[in-house]
Amino acid sequence: MNNLIITLKKLIQLQIYDQEIIDLEEEINSIPDQISQLEKTIESLQKNLDTDRNQLKDLQLKIKNRELDLQSVEQQIKKHTQELNTVKTNEQYRALLTEIDNLNKQKDQVEIEIIELMETIDKSKAKTAAAEKEFSLKREEIQKQIENLKQKKQNLENTLTEKIKEREDFAKNIQQKFLSQYERIRKSRDGAMSPVVQTERGYSCGKCNMRLTEQEISDINKYEEFIFCSSCSRILYIPKDLEEHQNIE
Ligand SMILES: [Zn+2]
Repeated sequence: MNNLIITLKKLIQLQIYDQEIIDLEEEINSIPDQISQLEKTIESLQKNLDTDRNQLKDLQLKIKNRELDLQSVEQQIKKHTQELNTVKTNEQYRALLTEIDNLNKQKDQVEIEIIELMETIDKSKAKTAAAEKEFSLKREEIQKQIENLKQKKQNLENTLTEKIKEREDFAKNIQQKFLSQYERIRKSRDGAMSPVVQTERGYSCGKCNMRLTEQEISDINKYEEFIFCSSCSRILYIPKDLEEHQNIE
């Protein structure tokens, strides 16, 4: 058994742990944004509903004012009708009749407006009621999604804690010297390990595509020490050798 091959295999496994940890962290970090997006959706739906409610309130205020106008016109009509009994001249009488006639026309106009407003209010009420119902359903659905996301985040955090522990335990089985080299490269690169790729044109680093020399391949094949890619500095290995080694084990 070649110790360096065993170490390389362990480091490849360690890299899998590290990638899993990175993926978990990314997923966890994306959740608060998702939650805040959902909260914004609720706020925006709430605003739309508030607009409907305010429109209804405005209409209700408008109709109240028109009803007061109607009352005032009716009072004037009543007052002038009573005055008809007290006028002294025909001229005054006719003037009052004209005045009453004009007021009656005003009254008709206001009544028409009130009826129209009542119809608009009915429509607005129905629209607001439907919007309220829809909002309440949507909010409930979104709140459920938020709760699920919070739960998911909690679960992912637990998984992450376990994964980090597993990774640390696993790393204990790797010689400190090699582990340090791995860690140093990992900090500046995404993944410290790179498989050698063989094509018709020769060998190259699987991560950065740098061409490798026959000498480098021969050095890797010795499995005495790590051979680093001259371009990206990653630790090179030949996948086939590691697979074969597994079969021998
Ligand atoms: Zn490279």
